Amino acid sequence: MSYRKLLLSDIHSLSRRSESVWTWGTRKFSSTRSNGNRHYKLVIIGGGSGGCSISAKFAKTMGSKSIAVIEPSDVHYYQPMWTLVGGGMKSLADSGRPMSSVLPSNIDWVKDKATEIKPSKQTVVIGTGSSKQEIQYDYLVIAVGIQLQYEKIKGLPEAFNSAGVCSNYSSLYVNKTLQALKDFKKGNAVFTFPNTPVKCAGAPQKILYIADQYLRKNGKRDNAKLIYNTSLGVLFGVKHYADSLWNVVKSRDISVNLRRNLVEVIAKDKAAIFEDLDNPGKFETVPYEMLHVTPPMGAYDLIKSNSEDIPDAAGFVDVNKGTLQHVRHPNVFAIGDCANLPTAKTAAAVAAENGVLFRNLTNFMNGKEPEFIYDGYTSCPLVTGYEKCILAEFDYNGQPLETFPIDQSKERRSMFLMKKDVMPEIYWKLMLKGNWNGPGTFRKLFAPFKKT
Ligand SMILES: Cc1cc2nc3c(=O)[nH]c(=O)nc-3n(C[C@H](O)[C@H](O)[C@H](O)COP(=O)(O)OP(=O)(O)OC[C@H]3O[C@@H](n4cnc5c(N)ncnc54)[C@H](O)[C@@H]3O)c2cc1C
Repeated sequence: MSYRKLLLSDIHSLSRRSESVWTWGTRKFSSTRSNGNRHYKLVIIGGGSGGCSISAKFAKTMGSKSIAVIEPSDVHYYQPMWTLVGGGMKSLADSGRPMSSVLPSNIDWVKDKATEIKPSKQTVVIGTGSSKQEIQYDYLVIAVGIQLQYEKIKGLPEAFNSAGVCSNYSSLYVNKTLQALKDFKKGNAVFTFPNTPVKCAGAPQKILYIADQYLRKNGKRDNAKLIYNTSLGVLFGVKHYADSLWNVVKSRDISVNLRRNLVEVIAKDKAAIFEDLDNPGKFETVPYEMLHVTPPMGAYDLIKSNSEDIPDAAGFVDVNKGTLQHVRHPNVFAIGDCANLPTAKTAAAVAAENGVLFRNLTNFMNGKEPEFIYDGYTSCPLVTGYEKCILAEFDYNGQPLETFPIDQSKERRSMFLMKKDVMPEIYWKLMLKGNWNGPGTFRKLFAPFKKT
């Protein structure tokens, strides 16, 4: 077992043992007020892609110990790698690093869950009951991501205890995907897309194409029917890429059913029940040998149930879609999946949001109005197997915003290598260190070579 695997398995067992114990991170608080509460100039809730990368930017410009990141997890995962983990191209350990190693060294890591946000008092509450504490902020960045809701499907998550049911969306179930492919003998391999917002809307079908190639390589494809049941009315939201994906689907003999929503899994019968969203109340039972579930997702209660006007009607943080500043609380900003930005929720979007948020919040701290505008840039490397990828990049208007001077809607090996080998390096070495705002500069450099 490699050093990193050992380290991560230790971390996992450690965090399981201490789940109920309320602890602070390894770093000490900078300032304690007379009432026992702590105060920071900048508080960031969440240490995922958004929280970690934005804390790195501010850690370079703000005084030591001016920043607190509230984050309960011991491990930071590069979730985009889970598509490759499910297909056996990377391991789960490859996708994780200890949280302490990715957060900047000169900030305070508050290793706990935020339980309440009170903009009227400029405080974030951590802990519950008698262990409740308040942390005061001058400025707040919310970066808690989006919540997985497997429990909203009847029979889940219990069905994950049975063979063949898997999901690349969770560190708990992603290893079951490769196992389901290895165990596959004969029958339906079913892949789902829920009737909610999701992070990385391409991931539910990336694993479909990987599974197709896995089964072909291993001589099992003739015994398999591949079914993609999606709640959406389209295969992909941007036509430029959807057209190419329809070609992939047709050439690989994959059945696609639009407007089908998974509502129940009956593990003992190996049956998945879907509602036809165009005929509410009409259900279809699909037997499966393998079932890959993309769970329903939604805003966390921390945001959704906030009583001080943090959420919009759908429960996400209500920010200006250009500046990322909260529309009612000017000293509050949000980044990433928790924000109500009308773009695809991805780490690539977080990278582009990062530069805008950093400059706007810095301006605001200096008494100026936020003026930098996020254009909705997002990207989805649509892996179509073990060798190829369509690199979708687009903006708020669903218009392609491509980096390279080639037709990115085509399946390409170069884009696959970019996804598998280059993007993780950019993530760990540049983005989490606060040095990557997305590929905008390269797009400008390559623009003269782009054929229109
Ligand atoms: C299978 C899969 C494939 C993907 N593929 C891609 C891809 O190819 N390209 C791409 O760009 N993106 C991809 N993504 C999406 C990408 O991982 C997310 O969009 C990105 O991580 C969002 O960053 P975030 O900071 O908003 O949320 P996260 O990175 O999820 O971080 C949120 C953090 O907030 C913490 N938190 C939650 N609640 C609280 C609380 N109450 N108090 C304190 N902390 C809290 C969590 O512990 C977590 O660490 C993929 C995701 C998955 C699951």
